[in-house]
Amino acid sequence: MKQYHSIINNKKIDNGNWLEIINPSTNQVYAQVSALTKIGLDEAFKSARSAFKIWSSLNVEKRKEILVNWKKLILLNKEELAQILVSEVAKSHKDALSEIIRTSEYIDLTISEFENMELLTFDNTYNGIQENIYAEYHRIPKGVGVAISPFNYPVNLSISKLAPGILTGNTFVFKPATQGSVVGIRLIELAIEAGIPAGVLNVVTGKGKDIGDDIVKNNEIDFISFTGSVGVGNRIKELASSKDLVLELGGKDAAIILDDHNLENIASDIVAGAFSYSGQRCTAIKRVITTNAIADKISPLLKLEVEKLTVGLPTENTIIVPLIDKKSADYVEELINDAIQHQAIALTSIKRKENLIWPVLLDKVSLKSKVAWEEPFGPILPIIRVEKIDDMIKVANESNFGLQTTIYSKDEKLAYELAFKLEVGTININRRTQRGPDVLPFLGVKDSGFGVQGIKETIMSTTRYKGIIRKK
Ligand code: NAD
Repeated sequence: MKQYHSIINNKKIDNGNWLEIINPSTNQVYAQVSALTKIGLDEAFKSARSAFKIWSSLNVEKRKEILVNWKKLILLNKEELAQILVSEVAKSHKDALSEIIRTSEYIDLTISEFENMELLTFDNTYNGIQENIYAEYHRIPKGVGVAISPFNYPVNLSISKLAPGILTGNTFVFKPATQGSVVGIRLIELAIEAGIPAGVLNVVTGKGKDIGDDIVKNNEIDFISFTGSVGVGNRIKELASSKDLVLELGGKDAAIILDDHNLENIASDIVAGAFSYSGQRCTAIKRVITTNAIADKISPLLKLEVEKLTVGLPTENTIIVPLIDKKSADYVEELINDAIQHQAIALTSIKRKENLIWPVLLDKVSLKSKVAWEEPFGPILPIIRVEKIDDMIKVANESNFGLQTTIYSKDEKLAYELAFKLEVGTININRRTQRGPDVLPFLGVKDSGFGVQGIKETIMSTTRYKGIIRKK
């Protein structure tokens, strides 16, 4: 059994406690990672604090060089990292490789965005007021950050927090998801190989429910960047309300179809948006909302597309793969049963083998059923039928979530107008909901988030202004 250690101050930590990492495809133990306690966590924060002084005063070119080395090592080791993702989070090998390559591009973009950030200067005239001064505003690092990432994109969603943060001079205590810890540890080992000094990136592992509170309550924290579920996000908000927070949480993205133009293409776009990685994506399409007349036409097309989805193991590169754990699969099953009890019609067969759930398309889903409102994080797509366009907007907005929405219509002007009525961070018109391109800001409103991610936004949120004003 391979064991992977938490890393504090560039040293492997072994406190004798281990956490099992289960392969979701086999439900067998795949590896063990350190299970830290408060003593280890305090040590990690102490290291991050003392490294901050040195790291933040290091020439930025040196920090850039280390980041470039890290990227090169990630690419060099992409096959090993992809294999870990296959075993640890049941991601198909193809998707795992593309996550790693996208992340390496994210690092390149971080460097170029940072280089393009201009110093903010004011010379004499400010808002029409003449004063004999020269003012300049620099971005300086905030200090010690906490990065907490979810299981579904364990490489991308970790490095999208860490790379901009370390480039700007911050240091981190990084807590990967339990399933995602092995790859998280390997990423930090590669950072050390790339030349990251001791204490800049500390990776702490253990069950979130056991060590999460002790992480987010630590006094050394200057800022927290969290991606994960609403429940945990709210807990962090409660415990760390005085800290600087960016929270990227769950979603219930709707695909709204306004008219019956181009329905075949729309059906294939929706199914790709709903089911890739078995629907375990924050921006997966999680409900279709349309009128009865359009639903009558699109539901057979959606069914055809769902039936084309490949189902199997991540090693076989199927679209539908086993869900992250048994609890998640049980929950999806519960949502399906509840929807059917509320008179939904299953248009595809319902089948489960351990954590693997075959994709389910549900029509005529009642607003009384849980799946109309909750985030399944599994391969299930409800079709909600309403009377008219106003009702589509109303039902979409009744959700507590507010991540993204897609509007499909031949009338782009109408879609654009409706975009301003929908309570979400981002509207897609005639393209499925998705994160990216990575240079764009990414945000959720309502329960879906607090603060903004994105390359430039993370550079901004991990730094603050330092103003220097001189009399001329
Ligand atoms: P999760 O909330 O269960 O876990 C996320 C992280 O929080 C993990 O590292 C976990 O160990 C840690 N954690 C657990 N309890 C904690 C506590 N009390 N204090 C601090 N940390 C704690 O989420 P998950 O199951 O890993 O990921 C799925 C969720 O993430 C979905 O809701 C999905 O929509 C969301 N997500 C959102 C985005 C986005 O950008 N909006 C992206 C990906 C995933």
